[in-house]
Amino acid sequence: MKGDITQLIENNRAWAEEITSRDPMFFEQLSSHQSPQFLWIGCSDSRVPPNQIAGALPGEIFTHQNVGNLVQLNDVNCMSAVKFALEELEVANIVLCGHYGCGAIKAIIENTAEGLLKKWLEPIAHLYQKNKIELSDLSAELAYKRLVELNVLAQVNSLCRSSSVLDRWTNKNSLNIHALVYDVGNGFLKDLGVKISSKDDLFEFQRSAYF
Ligand SMILES: [Zn+2]
Repeated sequence: MKGDITQLIENNRAWAEEITSRDPMFFEQLSSHQSPQFLWIGCSDSRVPPNQIAGALPGEIFTHQNVGNLVQLNDVNCMSAVKFALEELEVANIVLCGHYGCGAIKAIIENTAEGLLKKWLEPIAHLYQKNKIELSDLSAELAYKRLVELNVLAQVNSLCRSSSVLDRWTNKNSLNIHALVYDVGNGFLKDLGVKISSKDDLFEFQRSAYF
């Protein structure tokens, strides 16, 4: 797609008409409410569009995206999205998704972030410093991938400390948190094998993690 708003709007019309041709009531039914099964927290990277890579339709995934897929407890934006998803929409699954080839991770490894971006990415810089010895044993490519994965795990840990998540488990309501990495080189999601569904799971996860 060229950088042309006319093209963008034409594409939108074609997309909406295509969906309506398959299901004439699709948009009308969705217009009254949403009941997504997932909250997706991911990177803003244009190559990682949540709905498309998950094969989901509008209404199926509630999303929050930022540079580096960070979850910071003092980030009003992210915390509001989590609160709304859990308390209003009663979403029962959260996906924390990072991706290989992430520019935010690269900027930390290469120390090229400046200004506001440098400030925003501070949590990743701290994570990098903490794990520098382990990462130095790897090739540059593998260290880059490993830091992407460690960042996902660190953000899962942060997410699990939010009051919305803890309240959910305290009240014995179901909530599963998953850690995924998307490979921009082949289009596949990789499950990091983390599923946290209770405070006990969280303690176990924290015992085995690197942060
Ligand atoms: Zn990214």
